[in-house]
Amino acid sequence: MKISSAEFVISNSDVGKCPKDKLPEYAFIGRSNVGKSSLINMLTGRKSLAKTSGRPGKTQLINHFIINKNWFLVDLPGYGYARVSKSAKKVFQKFITAYFSKRTQLVNAFVLVDCRHEPQKIDLEFMQWLGENQIPFSIIFTKADKLSKNKLPVHINNYTQEMLKYWEEMPNYFITSSSSGLGKDDVLNYIEEINKQ
Ligand code: GDP
Repeated sequence: MKISSAEFVISNSDVGKCPKDKLPEYAFIGRSNVGKSSLINMLTGRKSLAKTSGRPGKTQLINHFIINKNWFLVDLPGYGYARVSKSAKKVFQKFITAYFSKRTQLVNAFVLVDCRHEPQKIDLEFMQWLGENQIPFSIIFTKADKLSKNKLPVHINNYTQEMLKYWEEMPNYFITSSSSGLGKDDVLNYIEEINKQ
């Protein structure tokens, strides 16, 4: 898919105030600092559509962008930021739960994980929750350029093995790098294919 337009629509903390249009929607979510803003900028070919985080965990907002005037890209807040208080985590959980349970336009959630890291409990639990709530999701491995050609498949394989403890099969996944543009076409073509259906 070629991105001919990518525009910011609205930021808010209330799922009820998200755009009313019934356009298909794709959400991007992951731990703070996973590379979500960089990935969104890389996918859309816009340098600063999503704000890369100087202060991770600070923006707890749902950000809607309209792409090619026919689908929404949604930038959800990063989770798992250690310096956020317990009560702030609760608020976050409520708000994410509300988004995923009320947003009927949502077609797929992309859960971002840093390809260098061992599977993290918070990501596994989050994917478990998505599964239990029948929310379709894919995994996006980020920062692939940070691993050598030999190490990358080893890390992906380790992740797959861990996932297979909980899932019958490995969810659909993409390997990306915002520095090199790796995976851009794969992710965009995937969205295009679903949108055609
Ligand atoms: P966010 O908090 O998930 O939105 O993460 P950011 O996009 O702000 O990225 C966090 C840090 O990781 C920044 O210093 C980015 O420059 C860096 N980063 C993000 N993606 C990549 C990538 O694909 N490759 C490399 N080498 N660095 C990346």
